[in-house]
Amino acid sequence: KNWLDYDNFAVFGMGRSGVAAANLLAKRGKKVIASDTRTLDEMGDVAGQLDDGVELVGGGNIVGDAEVVVVSPGLKPNLAVFEELRGRDVPAISEIELAYAATDARILAITGTDGKSTTTVLVGHILEHAGVECVVGGNLGTPLCALVDEVSSDGVIVAEVSAFQLWTTHQFAPHAFGLTNIAFDHLDYFDNYDEYVGAKRQVMQNAGAASWGVFNAEDEHIRSWQHGYEGRAVVYGLSEEVVEAADENSDEEADDTLWLADGSLWARLDGGEATQWLPSVAGLPIAGAHNMLNLMCAAGLALSVGVSLDEVADAATSFKALPHRMEYVGAVDGVQFYDDSKATNVHAALAGLRSLEGDLVAIVGGVDKGLQLIELIDFLREREAPVVIIGEIRERLGSELLAAGYPERDIYTADSMQEAVEKAYKLAKPDGTVSLSPACSSFDMFDSYAHRGDVFQQIVRGLS
Ligand code: ADP
Repeated sequence: KNWLDYDNFAVFGMGRSGVAAANLLAKRGKKVIASDTRTLDEMGDVAGQLDDGVELVGGGNIVGDAEVVVVSPGLKPNLAVFEELRGRDVPAISEIELAYAATDARILAITGTDGKSTTTVLVGHILEHAGVECVVGGNLGTPLCALVDEVSSDGVIVAEVSAFQLWTTHQFAPHAFGLTNIAFDHLDYFDNYDEYVGAKRQVMQNAGAASWGVFNAEDEHIRSWQHGYEGRAVVYGLSEEVVEAADENSDEEADDTLWLADGSLWARLDGGEATQWLPSVAGLPIAGAHNMLNLMCAAGLALSVGVSLDEVADAATSFKALPHRMEYVGAVDGVQFYDDSKATNVHAALAGLRSLEGDLVAIVGGVDKGLQLIELIDFLREREAPVVIIGEIRERLGSELLAAGYPERDIYTADSMQEAVEKAYKLAKPDGTVSLSPACSSFDMFDSYAHRGDVFQQIVRGLS
């Protein structure tokens, strides 16, 4: 049964996606109770953003006589309310699941631990460049429920989807899905890593023979998911060997492969000849191995809606990278500063740091999400990089650095971003690089990763 065949709905959580879901339901003539654990006062302007047909209640989540509940991605799976809904046999669905039910447009869904936003925006840029009707949103930007009526049924919805949204999907079946990578993150939300990985995999739970799947061969989880996949498989990686090995180890052969070799991007489409489709990645506005993976993932998704690799290559030269993702801030007396504030886990921070050459100083820290830090510590020790630690994780990271044999003279702590930047600048070698690579979320000291990055950039500009 399509979710929109029901008449009575409740929406839990009046964040942006909850508001969009409630409004879409009201627009479709449904009865909607929208609620939030915040009081009406605490919700501020939410009432003003809602359609007249929505009944808003504060101070708790209200099921009422709803047959289906749309749940906020902020609600953790182990909350009692999910137990209660199961007991009452009322399905809990996410906002993207509702949007899927409400549209005939093709959805290209991008998920993974890191690189989602970059890949999503890149796909949107490529499709626009190629003249394909599309809208872009989801976890980043505008919620899908607010986009479904902005695109015709011949158009494309490019959607960044998170594990928080995916675990409450049931029928969600995108035209194509792109998988960037899977690494430790969000152990503050899911009970364990397997649950998190399982939620990501739900992006392909309903993928049939007509779907397209774009798989990263560099990732051990993702390359194994190609087993048994019936749709058209695009496999990409940082070398032809990796791509072919992933393919050989799968019982399903990839239809298309994409890889990086000698600074160029190559492809073998539909089992044909190997062709070079992007002669030099050196001049592209996005850099680093991680971004070449993002570009190949975007290329696979573009192929799924009929865009050629030539058009992808052309569009890539005019892509503008998103802020706070290895954003170059500037140089002060020869010391270069990078803002990678969006690197909110160890895997992301490492990807950014690996793309930097020469002498490094790293500003690391923020909220302790319980992630394993050892890979980051090993990398920084190999590079002999002094570390300036900020935020809640200071003590833990400081003692783990020491325990891992990090020289004490290379470990510093700072109480503010100002102090951290000044220390890092003093420690940097002439011609060296300072990178804000937190590997943690920002909420102990800042409103968001963007706020953290803005503060960092402002202080850096003040140094000169
Ligand atoms: P997401 O939306 O998944 O958080 P972003 O595109 O916003 O991803 O990038 C967040 C951070 O993750 C960047 O600052 C960068 O350091 C890192 N990153 C980006 N792409 C990748 C990738 N493919 N693999 C690993 N890390 C990446």
